[in-house]
Amino acid sequence: MRRPYIAGNWKMNLDRASAIALATEVASQTTGIEGVDVALCPPSVYLDAVGSAISGSQVVMGAQNMYHQPEGAFTGELSAAMLLDVGCRCVILGHSERRHEIGESNEDVNKKVLAALAAGLEPIVCVGELLAEREAGTTGEVIRNQFDGSLAGVTAEQMSQITLAYEPVWAIGTGKVASPEQAEEVHLDLRKLMEDRYNSEVAQAVRIQYGGSVKPSNAAELLAKPNIDGCLIGGASLKADLFVPVIRAAAE
Ligand code: PEP
Repeated sequence: MRRPYIAGNWKMNLDRASAIALATEVASQTTGIEGVDVALCPPSVYLDAVGSAISGSQVVMGAQNMYHQPEGAFTGELSAAMLLDVGCRCVILGHSERRHEIGESNEDVNKKVLAALAAGLEPIVCVGELLAEREAGTTGEVIRNQFDGSLAGVTAEQMSQITLAYEPVWAIGTGKVASPEQAEEVHLDLRKLMEDRYNSEVAQAVRIQYGGSVKPSNAAELLAKPNIDGCLIGGASLKADLFVPVIRAAAE
């Protein structure tokens, strides 16, 4: 049985005071909710402050990105060790906004995944197709290429540290959610891919989050699908009264 996992991706939103206030609210409102893992991924300049706000709660902290090099002359970048040092447990890698806005390739994502794993930071690795790719019937191929490219060289043992996130790009921040059936189909494909590339133990153990316009009104039916193990949430993670009900739905 995979434990549900809800992560909030705050992207480039909030200021220091509102980040602290939101983290404090989420930490207090999730007290006593059992059977679900919760992560908050604030902008990196607020990691330290958010870490203090959630200290002692069941909420863990993640970063939205990192660089693959351990240290050195890489202006503006952050290493896995730095993120761990400031209290991160996990890091989102390969988010579609980084793939499509910033131009990160599967190779870039792969280097980051390997560096995060080597440092002991748990990656949430995102995959997902564009609308044109879905309409062209190439969703399966896109997901397979992203999976193989982003996870090249990852051992079966390392896979247990990874969470996958299926995020159809056309559903991110658009209000258009994939139907539970559309999401489940891709989640099942990902599980079969893990079985094929690794083994059935890995395929059954790795959690796969769905991301794309998740909110309280659609979370329960998505989470009811057997291969949807949680959610990666953007917009609705910016308000405790939208985010916490999704956590509750996952715990039920
Ligand atoms: C995301 O950023 O990963 C995401 C799924 O955003 P939203 O929930 O706003 O669609």
